[in-house]
Amino acid sequence: MKVAIASGKGGTGKTTLATNLAIMLSRAGEKVAYLDCDVEEPNGHIFLKPNIEKRETVYLPVPVVDQDKCISCRKCEEICQYNAIACMGKKTLVFQELCHACGGCYLVCPTNAISETDREVGVVEDGHAGPVGFAHGKLKIGEALSPPLVKAVKQRASDGFTVLDAPPGTSCPAVETIMDADLVLLVTEPTPFGLNDLKLAVDMARQVGSLFVVVVNRSDIGDDKTRKYCDQQRIEVLAEIPNDRRVAVCYSTGGLPIDGVPGYADYLLPIVERILGGAR
Ligand code: SF4
Ligand code: SF4
Repeated sequence: MKVAIASGKGGTGKTTLATNLAIMLSRAGEKVAYLDCDVEEPNGHIFLKPNIEKRETVYLPVPVVDQDKCISCRKCEEICQYNAIACMGKKTLVFQELCHACGGCYLVCPTNAISETDREVGVVEDGHAGPVGFAHGKLKIGEALSPPLVKAVKQRASDGFTVLDAPPGTSCPAVETIMDADLVLLVTEPTPFGLNDLKLAVDMARQVGSLFVVVVNRSDIGDDKTRKYCDQQRIEVLAEIPNDRRVAVCYSTGGLPIDGVPGYADYLLPIVERILGGAR
């Protein structure tokens, strides 16, 4: 069972929730993997402190043109939706950073002038945090295309439970993360910004067709508009976690609140029970 933890914006407590849930599921006797899909800024390792056992470079197949075979017919340029290949006079150029590796240009080229080469997009590190399987991706500096790396991280899913820590926002990497999750937890906080971004996250989850629920973090700091919105939209609020300075202190020292803040785990129990119930 795959559970994705997502939010429309950063700073809602997504990683705190994801890492603590992974440990709680493991302590319930389940086989668990925690996968940090926030490949631009992974930080789950700070809290889980995994032992990294393997490091794998991830490549994207991109085209390279044999100019001697190219007849400048422009068919590759016409099919490319990303402006990643263009005919300039008698030369056909590839802009590898723009290429999404869809493979279209290889198919339409009448002279087989296009072949494949590899472009490095980042690395995936695998390991364990105690009994919890761990993996995160690290996007290469300057690289803009993160979904292929997210995909590579997701290949480390457990055959038990997998907790997917999604990147913040609602763009391609977040969509790639939640795509095939059995349950998506949308983490928000009851502030005007939080509500605005929750609405975007709800739109994303609905368009993807995900089963989703809301978790309200720091539930006592704002107003009741988030709750009213969820009621109106018939969205289930599965858990509400009140603001607690001790959680922030624990976070700032790289600790897990389920161990460092008495009572914190109780707020996560409805989520753990739902996850376990969904899989049984
Ligand atoms: S593989 Fe796809 S995205 Fe890349 S250059 Fe060819 S057509 Fe464009
Ligand atoms: S489709 Fe092939 S032959 Fe035509 S311009 Fe592109 S690389 Fe050249």
